[in-house]
Amino acid sequence: MNMLREEAMPRRPGKVLSIASHANPRIKSIRALAQVKQRRESGLFVAEGLKLVSDALQQNWPVRMFIHRADAIDQPAIAAAAARSRARGADILAVSGEILAKITRRENPQTVVGVIEQRLIAAEAIKPRADSVWIALERIKDPGNLGTIIRTADAVGTGGIILIGPSVDPFSVEAVRATMGSIFHVPIARLGDEHFQRLREGWSGAVVGTHLSSRIDYRAAEYREPVLLVMGNEQSGLSEALANACDQLVRIPIAGEADSLNLAVATAVMLYEIRRNHISL
Ligand code: SAM
Repeated sequence: MNMLREEAMPRRPGKVLSIASHANPRIKSIRALAQVKQRRESGLFVAEGLKLVSDALQQNWPVRMFIHRADAIDQPAIAAAAARSRARGADILAVSGEILAKITRRENPQTVVGVIEQRLIAAEAIKPRADSVWIALERIKDPGNLGTIIRTADAVGTGGIILIGPSVDPFSVEAVRATMGSIFHVPIARLGDEHFQRLREGWSGAVVGTHLSSRIDYRAAEYREPVLLVMGNEQSGLSEALANACDQLVRIPIAGEADSLNLAVATAVMLYEIRRNHISL
């Protein structure tokens, strides 16, 4: 099931433009997408690299602009992705390497960048399949952690991710980069605390939280499907309210002196245990 997939809508082909100046208003508006406020207002985000833009096209995410280094259009894969984007209404912008470096804030930028419409799923779209696992993240703050969790969620095959409370933007450049394209494959919802508690009340499977003071080894827990895995904030861990909302709390043992695991690492360990019987080489 892919909740993000929609049929491609017939659209008028986009424009083909050659832009030479950093000061061009379009370039300025693309660069402004580095700011969360601009992403929120425009509903757009930037994805870097042909792989990510191709993933977006393949999953039918609306690509609004396809920006490429002018000389790279001779490469067949880039020309094909540009043509596909244009046919779906994206404007095609040929720019210099310097402008791409400005847009991506990187010395060695990718040759392709996409400006894409954001997609989150509504709470009503969270309909867990009987054998699925969903991940709830409480107030996650680090974009690299979120991107890594989205990538891992894609790898193990999860139903989706629920961001609880104020959290980092999944469409920030750093988060999108860290997903390596999985942002286009994993449904993501944002829920306030109360909304999450309502979802939790109706959850038919096990709601399992992770907590450093639990006495239950994560390998000994019962993961009745569909599983809702609840992970805490990087600094403060799981709040009391969310810990109380879980059916059980589990801990990953630590042999050395580290206080805890990194959030993305702990999520990966949990997911591979929960999905143990669902995935194989
Ligand atoms: N100082 C925080 C605390 O006391 O909970 C540490 C938070 S930890 C860096 C972030 C999250 O990763 C935790 O809330 C939990 O969800 C998960 N986590 C990290 N190490 C874990 C472990 N050993 N067992 C279970 N969960 C862990």
